[in-house]
Order: sequence, then C-alpha cells, then structure tokens
Amino acid sequence: MSMKEKLENIKAEVQKQVEAADVPEMLNDVRVKFLGKKGELTAVLKGMKDVAAEERPLVGQLVNETRAVIENMLDETKKMMETQLREERLKEEVIDVTLPSKKNKVGHRHPNTIALEEVERIFVGMGYEVMEGPEIEYDEYNFEKLNIPADHPAKDEQDTFYINDEIVLRTQTSPIQARVMEQGKLPIRMIAPGRVFRADEVDATHSPSFHQIEGLLIDKNVSLADLKGTLEIFAKELFGEDTKTKFRPHHFPFTEPSAEMDVSCFKCGGKGCRFCKGEGWIEILGCGMVHPHVLEMCGIDPEEYTGFAFGVGLERIALLKYEIDDMRLLYENDIRFLKQF
Ligand SMILES: [Zn+2]
Repeated sequence: MSMKEKLENIKAEVQKQVEAADVPEMLNDVRVKFLGKKGELTAVLKGMKDVAAEERPLVGQLVNETRAVIENMLDETKKMMETQLREERLKEEVIDVTLPSKKNKVGHRHPNTIALEEVERIFVGMGYEVMEGPEIEYDEYNFEKLNIPADHPAKDEQDTFYINDEIVLRTQTSPIQARVMEQGKLPIRMIAPGRVFRADEVDATHSPSFHQIEGLLIDKNVSLADLKGTLEIFAKELFGEDTKTKFRPHHFPFTEPSAEMDVSCFKCGGKGCRFCKGEGWIEILGCGMVHPHVLEMCGIDPEEYTGFAFGVGLERIALLKYEIDDMRLLYENDIRFLKQF
C-alpha cells in the first residue's frame, strides 16, 4: 500500500468514527487514537525513514495536510456538538419571565427601638451621654441608695422578682444614677435606657418587663427652671413644636420637689379628644430635683451641687407616638403589626 493510500485510509477511518461519535468525549478518543503519541498518523510519520529521500518532501506535505484535515474535522464537529448541547439545555430550562418574582423580606427596627433612638437623639443633642447598668441589681442600689428604705411604702408598689435577700431584678433604671454619681465625676449629664421588671399582671398598659429611660443632670446652680426647660425642649422635639407642657406636684422618694409632666394632646392640640380621654393633656413622665440625701449617700456635697432627674417609660412613648392602643402588641412579635412602623 502506498503512503498516499495509507493516509486516505486513515482519513476515511477518522471520518467514520467522527460521524459515529455523539458526545464531545468520544471525539477526544478519536484524536488520541489517530493524532496521539502512539496514534496511527504518528506511526505513519515514524515510517518516513523508509521513504526514498527524493519522495520525502512530498510525502511529508501529504502527512501534514492529512493531519490538518483530521484536526479540522475534529474541531468543527466538537463545536457543532457543543452548540447543539447548549441549545437542547436552553430548551429544557425555559424561564417564564412573566411569573411574579419572590420578594425578599427585609426586617426593620422595632417601634421600641425607633422610639428609643429618637429619645437618645434628642438628649445626645443637648450634650447628654447614654449610660447603661445591670438588669440584675443589688437591692441597695435599686432602693436604699435612692432613699427607699426597707419599710418605705414605695417599695411595696414596686415589688419585684428577688434573686435572694440582696439581689433583685431592677424595678427601675434609677439605680444607674447612684452608680454614676458614686464614680464622682462631675458634672453629670446622662440618660440611661434599659429593661426593668415588676411583679405586674399583663394587660393593655402593664407588663412584668418593660423599658425605662432615666435622665440625670448634676452640676452647680441647677434649678427647677433648668429641669422644666430641658423637659419642655424634649417634649417639643418628640411631639412637635406646638406641644405645651404642664407640671403637677407629685411625690418620689429620691427627688424633692417632685412632679409629673403632662404634654398637651398632639392629636387635638388640647381641646380634648378620644386619644387624651377628653382631658387635652397626656401624662408623660415623672421628674424632680435630686433629693439632697441621695446626693450625700453617693458622696456628692448637696451644698455645692444640685441636679434633676426624670424617668420616662419607653413603651409609653412608643404607644403614644405611633398610636398603639395595647402594649401587648409590642411584645407579640407579629410581623404584620411590626412592619407598619
Ligand atoms: Zn386629645
């Protein structure tokens, strides 16, 4: 068999095998079989030494041409197969772009958190620091240091969860006042938000666990006018520029004098409506001048320093500001309710 015939046979054989291939992997096998190191075309090249010297250039050219034809055949067929496979896959994976998409649910802040950040923004703007204290507190800090001795009636009102005789779940954020005053760094300008606990039954306005924001300012020459001015700015920032404030005398053991502050109803502007139960005013917080005895107990000279304190319920603000009529809604974690804010 002449060299030319051999090459023609190889070409024909390759063509036959390429046509029989139905996946690209099979084409690779064909490539190895004919063009590989031990392939049939390679074997022909190795036989060149037996070819007469004058014929070598021509035969060499023929071998190269054959190799090019085979490579071309393999490449083209491979491309064709891949295109076909891709088309088949696309047909299987038809996507209906008119179908409604799945919406991602993005969470957001709880109304309590929104209200707290609002209060913090207002006081930080007036130069106050935000402080924190332990939720599990010594009875001494929760009561004694706030002028509430063991036999004081205020202690009964705030009966709470005792861990033992000395340790309670704090009933108020006020113990943070004592903790900060004891550090002895004056003046003090702070608010202290936090969770508090009382042995209350759950209803629309009560919960055994809720949040308070305590405020304290201690400096030289602080008077009741400073207290009123500060809380008036707070009320206007929180409920609107037209908000009026009213102070009613009250009693708290750790302040003297003490007051409760009402704000004019931001729904009716003070005329009286369902929201303010016809009063025109809404009770908002308790406050007063820090009792000299409390200052003394915390190592501050009441002759030199005076100050005021206030406490506001965070839930109360959230309920008022977002017009929620039941405190329990804040704790139920019903996403349909929470996502309204
Ligand atoms: Zn009203």
